[in-house]
Amino acid sequence: MSDEAVVYLDHAATTPVAPEVCEAMLAVLGDPGLAANPSSGDHAPGRRAAALVEQARAEIAALIGAQASEIVFTSGATESDNLALLGVARGSGWRGRHIVSSRTEHRAVLDALAHLEREGFEVTLLDPGAAGHVAPQALAAALRDDTVLVSLMHVNNETGAINDIGALGAVCREAGVPFHVDAAQGIGKFPIDVVAQGIDLLSLNAHKVHGPKGIGALYVSERARRRIEPLVFGGGQEQGLRPGTLAPHQIVGLARALTLAESRRESETARLRALRAALWEALQGCEGVLCNSPLDGHGSPWILNVCFEGVEGESLRYALDGLMVVSGGSACNSMHQEGSYVLRSLGRSDQQAMSSLRFSFGLATDAAGLARAAAEVIIAVRWLRAIAPAPQSASLRASSSAGAVN
Ligand SMILES: *Cc1c(COP(=O)(O)O)cnc(C)c1O
Repeated sequence: MSDEAVVYLDHAATTPVAPEVCEAMLAVLGDPGLAANPSSGDHAPGRRAAALVEQARAEIAALIGAQASEIVFTSGATESDNLALLGVARGSGWRGRHIVSSRTEHRAVLDALAHLEREGFEVTLLDPGAAGHVAPQALAAALRDDTVLVSLMHVNNETGAINDIGALGAVCREAGVPFHVDAAQGIGKFPIDVVAQGIDLLSLNAHKVHGPKGIGALYVSERARRRIEPLVFGGGQEQGLRPGTLAPHQIVGLARALTLAESRRESETARLRALRAALWEALQGCEGVLCNSPLDGHGSPWILNVCFEGVEGESLRYALDGLMVVSGGSACNSMHQEGSYVLRSLGRSDQQAMSSLRFSFGLATDAAGLARAAAEVIIAVRWLRAIAPAPQSASLRASSSAGAVN
């Protein structure tokens, strides 16, 4: 595959920085008048840097229906998830030690929860099952008198399955339990209103929406603020919840990326929904394909996850080296030699999970690139099935066509 033919389809792992974002960040980095510490309120340059940070904070808050004082800057969604989970769990004191989440959360949530279990907390993980999203009734049934936090993701990073955040938030509000949402794959792609959707804590980052890596935020409602404890200690920045010198160029980049994403949200949603449908259509030219993503309104137009039955996962990965997609789940899982826990929770076998590919889209994704990608994948799959067939599954032997999971 020549260089110009490379099609980047791993936007759910990270996205290239948009030129407008790069420009806004460079303007801050390159201006000696903005080089002061935003916490140095005693001099004008410090106050100028602080004003820039506060303007970005207000822009981000407005995008999600929050107050500026409820936005805490962090290094990204992983840190935001950890601050929300560990911070609220440890800060809930006598109220209880039970937390509800789901099996298909990102590792940043699952590993933080595993740590809390070692501290003596009890965790209930809901199983979204074949649907891929958590039923509000299942959440209601899992809540107890001693439940101190619910943590559920907005959009799944492997399959694109969307949780009905408003309905889940209503269950939490009714029960008086703080609700944390990992919105790393949802922010800038779907409208979020923390008040209307009953959200108390929301993790977001910049690098999944054409912003820089290494910057994110946690929305902490005034209500949740009374319970949350910091994870690190220092100079008192971010109301003592996340001390450390603020990075104005990163914060400006985050705000610019999110406002740009919002301005393009509707047109990009429509454009990518059509492109995703066309890619799925093209991939069905290959027999024995199963869709791991909801294709209806419960699925994100930014992600298509497909299982190619009868292909050995590792060979598929090598055969598609020039094609930037992710096999076997997500970038985070690709370090593990097992089928993705998210795909297995849909009811896929280990083998099916290993022979699945995630295609994820962004601003530069176009019809020509996807057509090329589809053609290449189909050639590779047919070739691999011919030379190194994996244990054949029943549905392939029956040569059934596509089966969608909705
Ligand atoms: C990418 C991602 C994260 C981690 O975000 P970082 O900013 O890279 O730390 C957490 N949750 C989900 C759902 C993600 O997709």
